[in-house]
Amino acid sequence: MSQKFSRRTFLKATGAVTAGVAAAATMPQKFLSWAEEAGQKEMKQIPTFCELCFWNCGLIAKVENNKVVKVDGNPLSLRGRGRLCGRGNAALGALYDPDRLKFPMINIGKRGEPVWKRATWDEALNVIAGKMKGIKEKYGPESMALIYHGTGAAFWKHLMHAYGSTLAAAPSFAQCRGPRDIGFMLTFGADVGSPEYYDFSKSKYIVLLGSHLGENAHNSQVQDIVKGFSSGAKLTVVDPRLSNIASKADRWLPIKPATDLALLLAWIRVVIEEGLYDKEYVAKYATGFDELRAAVHQYTPEWAESETTIASDVIVKVARELGENAPNVCIGAGRYSTWYGDDTQRSRAIAILNALLGSWGREGGYFFPTGAKVPEYPGLPAYPEHVEVAKLDEAYPFAMLQTTTSIKEATITGQPRPVKAWFVYGSNLMKTLPDKEETIKAIRNLDLMVTIDTMPMDIINYSDVVLPECTYLERYDNINLGKFKGEGEIALRQPTVEPLWESKPSWWITKELGNKLGLAEFFPWKDGEEYVAKRCQAGGIDFAQLKRDGVIIQKGGAPYITAENQPEFGTPSGKIELYSKQLAEKGFDPVPKYTRHPTPPAGHFRLLFGRAPLHTFSRTSNNFMLTDLQKENYLWVNTKKGKEQGLKDGEYVSLVNQDGLVASGRIKVKLTQRLRDDAVYMNHGFGVHSKGMSRADGQGIADDDLLTRHAIDPIMGGTAMRVNFVKIVKGA
Ligand code: SF4
Repeated sequence: MSQKFSRRTFLKATGAVTAGVAAAATMPQKFLSWAEEAGQKEMKQIPTFCELCFWNCGLIAKVENNKVVKVDGNPLSLRGRGRLCGRGNAALGALYDPDRLKFPMINIGKRGEPVWKRATWDEALNVIAGKMKGIKEKYGPESMALIYHGTGAAFWKHLMHAYGSTLAAAPSFAQCRGPRDIGFMLTFGADVGSPEYYDFSKSKYIVLLGSHLGENAHNSQVQDIVKGFSSGAKLTVVDPRLSNIASKADRWLPIKPATDLALLLAWIRVVIEEGLYDKEYVAKYATGFDELRAAVHQYTPEWAESETTIASDVIVKVARELGENAPNVCIGAGRYSTWYGDDTQRSRAIAILNALLGSWGREGGYFFPTGAKVPEYPGLPAYPEHVEVAKLDEAYPFAMLQTTTSIKEATITGQPRPVKAWFVYGSNLMKTLPDKEETIKAIRNLDLMVTIDTMPMDIINYSDVVLPECTYLERYDNINLGKFKGEGEIALRQPTVEPLWESKPSWWITKELGNKLGLAEFFPWKDGEEYVAKRCQAGGIDFAQLKRDGVIIQKGGAPYITAENQPEFGTPSGKIELYSKQLAEKGFDPVPKYTRHPTPPAGHFRLLFGRAPLHTFSRTSNNFMLTDLQKENYLWVNTKKGKEQGLKDGEYVSLVNQDGLVASGRIKVKLTQRLRDDAVYMNHGFGVHSKGMSRADGQGIADDDLLTRHAIDPIMGGTAMRVNFVKIVKGA
């Protein structure tokens, strides 16, 4: 198969399914009778799924007198398998947070200095619809952008399409997983999915680089790696920090920050030169081996030691262990991958190493997923014909999804065309995008800025209109389709209680707004339930069963390569591309090449940041069940280095970055031997600047305040944010 790698290919590959439909699981009777056994005869049990992170684990809400009193994992959910993580268990803290957005609000002050006027839904939506009509007339519908995160965005994307705009971007691409998806697409013609298609439970050897596994929960993936450990899987973790997952590893390689690519290239060299690669697999499925071999010859383990500080004999040892256990090995692709600006190439190196070891489509490596299928809502009118407009991501040839990077640029410059309105759905952009001043500059150029959220996040302060969405426990959303090993999952979000205050679900808000825009024909459903029910009906899926169980499983699809199940690669050559002609044609390195990144100036540390096990960034930083456990972030500092600077464990300090920017607030020092001495580390999501978030406001320091610099990945437009350095200032 020869296929041109295009945006369409990418979308197809990311949504590819292999399954036929077979048996569906049902809720175990024992589970359904839980309430009776406990003598709680009035208690209702309503299945839905969690939105406290994107993993979307199935949960069962226990409801008494129209109040959720507890949530438990849904045993049928492939994402959670009957378990919820610490954050997921704090659902009541999200639902019953007294700080929630309660009413629509119109800003009668300035963006950044808001003066809020409580509005009715009719008033708020009239203001938005009026502006949208004017913008469409003056600049065309494509001048309106949607920036989103989360399952509920589906109805907003539909509204945007009906209005005539295809301009939509999720920060989860250009600010998070985009480089790894594109690196794998360029190599295998397919990405690694979400949840990732790691076959950890069958792995014999796993390597993770800069992973936050466990701290980011990733429920079923953690369960899989634990299963792998109990079957004897070995784990090597590469990270400047002894992360939670590194603490469970057989070997921790505390690499010098920004040198991971050097280590990967040296591993590739050893695997090739010592003949540790899967020769039959590479000969059959890959192209460009000779070019790869020649290109990586310079990257000796001794050279890599001088870059990474990892001893050359350890580098060789790990490569040999990988070779011994191939193909049942998995070098994890990572998730948050916007680090230093050459991130697509680092992800390519990970993909190439997996390819050499033959782990793609093999037990214990990466499995081929099975997806679930549900047809779209039947009988909707076609969206307005797309008007050809200048592409915003022209500068980034492999930006296969729209980047927020170029939406921001176009909003500031008006080039290559104006962007005049943003809908921001469920995404706290002040914490998500680097360079806050630039984000504010872009927002000041807008004619309309609307935020849809459940909480008064930092971003609402820059909005003209704020629309309070009800939480995930109070609403229908679109159906959630998941891809897993040999099984696809259809998951239902349904209300467990009535929406509190005047909050509304997105299906309702978009329908009302659609009506005001003269787009009623695109919203024929009576409500969210009817929308989902009709989609199920169109696909012969038992909606009553879905409502009862929360999940329907569709089986089918072989997960591994066999004589009968041969892989297809969505690359131009139809093979795994160890050498990428596509990259060469666009002027990029066809095989990843190492370049050295700047190191911290004297007296500074590289600023690293990541997840707290009990929080999902600012989404949960105000959750009263979680703030009881962790209300602020800490600054991890190497013990020896910290003592040299006269720091004491637990003392508050302030931080100033390489550009002299002093972060507002203060942060508690945590002296630890779990971190190298050239970096500091903190949890992202704290240091909230929003008075409405009473428990989170001003707690800790925001790493995002200090990100005045970022590097753009020229291949796909990702914004690398680990390029900032900080100095610790005592006496905060
Ligand atoms: Fe919710 Fe935790 Fe699952 Fe994320 S991993 S969806 S927070 S239960």
